[in-house]
Amino acid sequence: MNGLMMEQPLLISTLLTHAERHHGEQEIVSRRVEGDIHRSTYRELAERSRRLANALAARGIAFGDRVATLAWNGYRHMELYYAVSGSGAVLHTLNPRLHPDQVVWIADHAEDQVLFFDLSFLPLVEAIASRVSTVKAFVAMTDRAHMPVSAKLPGLLCYEELVEAHSPDFTWPSFDEKSASSLCYTSGTTGHPKGALYSHRSTLLHTYAAALPDALNCSANDVILPVVPMFHVNAWGLPYAACMVGAKLVFPGPWLDGKSLHDLFEAEGVTMSAGVPTVWQGLLAHVEGNGLAFSTMRRTVIGGSACPPAMMRAFQERYDVQVLHAWGMTEMSPVGTVCTLKPAHRALDAEARMAIQAKQGRSVFGVDMKIVGEDGKALPHDGKAAGELMVRGPWIISNYFKGEGEGPLVDGWFPTGDVSTIDADGFMQITDRSKDVIKSGGEWIGSIDLENIAMAHPAVALAACIAARHPKWDERPLLVVTTKPGEQLSRDELLGFYDGRIAKWWTPDDVVFVDQLPLGPTGKVQKNKLREAFQDHLLAAQP
Ligand code: ADP
Repeated sequence: MNGLMMEQPLLISTLLTHAERHHGEQEIVSRRVEGDIHRSTYRELAERSRRLANALAARGIAFGDRVATLAWNGYRHMELYYAVSGSGAVLHTLNPRLHPDQVVWIADHAEDQVLFFDLSFLPLVEAIASRVSTVKAFVAMTDRAHMPVSAKLPGLLCYEELVEAHSPDFTWPSFDEKSASSLCYTSGTTGHPKGALYSHRSTLLHTYAAALPDALNCSANDVILPVVPMFHVNAWGLPYAACMVGAKLVFPGPWLDGKSLHDLFEAEGVTMSAGVPTVWQGLLAHVEGNGLAFSTMRRTVIGGSACPPAMMRAFQERYDVQVLHAWGMTEMSPVGTVCTLKPAHRALDAEARMAIQAKQGRSVFGVDMKIVGEDGKALPHDGKAAGELMVRGPWIISNYFKGEGEGPLVDGWFPTGDVSTIDADGFMQITDRSKDVIKSGGEWIGSIDLENIAMAHPAVALAACIAARHPKWDERPLLVVTTKPGEQLSRDELLGFYDGRIAKWWTPDDVVFVDQLPLGPTGKVQKNKLREAFQDHLLAAQP
């Protein structure tokens, strides 16, 4: 017997109509590429998105066509999120930090029809315009007064003119919720990038789950500033969650340095933010260096790579900003786990609570996890056994865009490529990416633990631990470190810092001090580059 409830498809456009109706006056504040602060509301977002949907239709964009963006976090990008997906086309957020060759490869693979871009990316667009094979129109996301003149982009369209020229009367179409809504490529450290193609259904379900109090905890009373870019897994879903709950949104544009972010947090009363650890480092350095505080910020989501406990302590103990450690992947829309404590943990002392917060957290409803050994058999959830983390759920990828055959799944589970433990309470802790694991004398050493210890040293800015070849043990841990400005640190002092903090044989064999660690397009340390540079470091040091 079927239930007798209405069958309404879960569509992204419904988030927008809800926000317009119930939170129409709520603000969306953007620091623009043009340099000023722009203020709008959900009502304006809805109206302009409808105009844009008419503009897309007028330019022949059809259901399922891919519409690409090269853009920062801002209100125009948000309008594209809703106009493109809402009208049944697919929003493809290109990552401008990739090499132009890769952007061309991805745009061709996606068969993008139109490319919208922020003015800061004009040189990139000029470099790729004659090379992308399917893009029929380029649109500069600005007004007539700021339109660039470019010989390489004849027929360049003006975003504001497109919006103004079309009527705000548009009825969002209804269609199958399984239709594709947006497309995001993983950075592909090996091989070609791969596309994760989200659906309206997966996006809506992910939004419900991500907004919950024990997940990202979003509310109409929040002022949310997503630092994580809208070109990186849909800014972790915050542009959708904000509409669902009616939160005020603050977009930082291209200004992600500590001072710009802190100024915006204070000026707009930001209560909640989200980003990768490398961004927060800049912010903390600015706040510490200038004796500042956070007057309204109450919590921040940190994920994308492991959040060092030293960073959590700084936020929580010095600034009263709660850290929500989260883990996810492009292939998971992205939220998989968030580390929010349970009632039993409240009685623990600060150190024990910090040990739990260092974990990546427990599943949000909808994400099922298990860990398996090399034989593919499930391992116990005892907080000790470490194996490859496998996931399944309605917002987890089943196959890559244009993927062949059965795709990446193993018996219906997606292998994450992460190695982790899961404890009896369900808290998952990543020890490594499988390709970054250090195998010393047949035993695994988790590089994240070693990095967290190094980053707890007051003189260390960033640390990465890689497997270096070793004649006796096959591989041994090697630390590659940058120090904070003005700080002096010796190899022996840093290695001595490991005493008593970790099993002796886990202590790295050596330290390489560098001026900068290579960061990838999503702000993570590129360990493959470090391995290329330093994997023979210990061999060279042998007599
Ligand atoms: P890419 O790194 O290729 O851009 P993603 O952005 O999808 O791809 O990154 C997903 C990966 O990032 C995860 O598989 C995991 O290795 C890592 N990651 C994400 N969040 C965390 C976290 N909180 N702690 C440790 N690793 C994390």
